[in-house]
Amino acid sequence: MSGPGDLLPVDDAVDIVIRAAQELARNSWPTRQLSLWDASGFILAEDICADRDQPPFDRAMMDGFALRAADVAAGPTTLRVVGEVAAGSDVDLTVGEGEAVAIMTGAPLPRGADTIVMVERTSRPDDGHVSVPGPLERGDNVAPRGQEVREGQVVAASGRVVESLTAGVLASVGAHRVTVRVRPRVTVITTGSELVPIEATPGPAQIRDSNRRTMFAFLEREWARVVDGGIVADEMNATRMAIREGLDSDVLVLSGGVSAGSYDIVRAALEEEGVEILFHKVRIKPGKPVLFGRHAGGLVFGLPGNPVSAFVAGLVLLGPALRVLGRRPEPASWYVRLPLVGELPATAGRTTFHAAELVRGDDDQLAVRYRPTLGSADQVAVARGNSFIRTEPGAPAARDGDLVRVLLPHSPVSW
Ligand code: AMP
Ligand code: MG
Repeated sequence: MSGPGDLLPVDDAVDIVIRAAQELARNSWPTRQLSLWDASGFILAEDICADRDQPPFDRAMMDGFALRAADVAAGPTTLRVVGEVAAGSDVDLTVGEGEAVAIMTGAPLPRGADTIVMVERTSRPDDGHVSVPGPLERGDNVAPRGQEVREGQVVAASGRVVESLTAGVLASVGAHRVTVRVRPRVTVITTGSELVPIEATPGPAQIRDSNRRTMFAFLEREWARVVDGGIVADEMNATRMAIREGLDSDVLVLSGGVSAGSYDIVRAALEEEGVEILFHKVRIKPGKPVLFGRHAGGLVFGLPGNPVSAFVAGLVLLGPALRVLGRRPEPASWYVRLPLVGELPATAGRTTFHAAELVRGDDDQLAVRYRPTLGSADQVAVARGNSFIRTEPGAPAARDGDLVRVLLPHSPVSW
C-alpha cells in the first residue's frame, strides 16, 4: 500500500521526539558552576533566590526632603532641616517632630521619617528651613524595604536562560557563581559524494556543503555545543565510522542520504551501528524523508539533503528536542497566529511549511507574508524571509487578512 497514509503525521513525529528527549534528559543531565560573567546563554540548573530584601532598606524614590506626614497634616508647614543623606551614605540621622532631612534618590530613609516630598514642591526660606505643602500621603516617594522581593524568594527559576536582564537580576542578589546545565553536545555530519568543504572550489559535478554551516548556526542559537563531524562520502564503511564517533554526542545530526536512492545508506549504517529507528518519513513538505532514532546515550536525526528540507526538518523536530534537553520552560515549538499579507496557495497531501517573512503592518501589528520559492533546494529564496507558515493537508488557499499559523525559528521570549 502507498499514499499519504504511510506517512507519520508531523505532530506525532514531534511527540515521539519530545518523549525520547525527555527520557534522555531524565538521566540526570550534568551541570557545572560558572562565574556569572561567563554564563551568558547558559540555562540555569538551580533556583536563584534573593539574598536579602529588595530594596534592602526603605529607599528614597525622589530627591527631596524626608519628613513625618503627621507634621504636615494640617497644611503647608515650615520644617527645620537637620541634615542631609545621599545615596550610599550611612549617616545615622533621626527626623524628630517638626524636622526634615534633605534626601537624594536611592538613599535610605532616616529613622523617624515616613514620607518624602519632592524637592520641586518645596522652597527654602533660609538654610535651616524648608517649606513644604501639606497634607501629604504617608509613605509618598518611599519604596518600603522588601517591596520588590523578600529574602529567600525565587528571582530566577531553574530553566531560565541567563541573558541580559536575567543576568542583571542574578547580579542584584549576589549570585556571581551559578549552576548551569551543560549544553547538549551535538555532532553534525553531512553525507554526499558530491559535497566539498565551503573553502574549496567545487568541480563541475560538485556542490558546496552548505548544510553543515546552516546547522552550526541554528544549533548555536539553540544553545548546543556543536561538534564538527565533517563530510562523508556515500560509502558504507566511511559512513559507519563517522556515525560511530558521532554517537558519543548527546545528539547526532546527519544531513543527506535518507531518501530512496541507491546511495541513500544512512538508515542502514545507523542500524548497523545499533541505532533504533523510531520513524523514517513524515507527512511534511518539505522534509518528508526525515529519520529519527535513538540509542542508549542519545538521539539521532537524519535530515534530508536538500537545504530547505534539512532546515525545515531541523526547525520542526530538532529544535523541540534541544529545548527539552535544556529543560527550557517554554513551548517546544513556537507557533503563533498572524494575519496574512497577500495570498497563500492551497495545500495538497502533506503538512506544508511555506517560506514566509514577518512584516510590520501600518498599525505596528505583526503580520506575515508568503514568499514563493522554487522548492526544497531554493535556500536563497527562503533565506530572504525569516519564518514558515504551516498549513495542514487539504487546507484551502488563504487570503489577505486571514489568520495563518506561523512557526517562529527561535524563542521570541527570553531575555
Ligand atoms: P540527498 O538527500 O542526499 O539525496 O540530497 C538531496 C539534494 O540535496 C542533492 O541535490 C544534494 O546535492 C543536496 N545536498 C545534500 N547534502 C547537502 C549539503 N550538505 N549542502 C547542500 N546541499 C546538499
Ligand atoms: Mg546524498
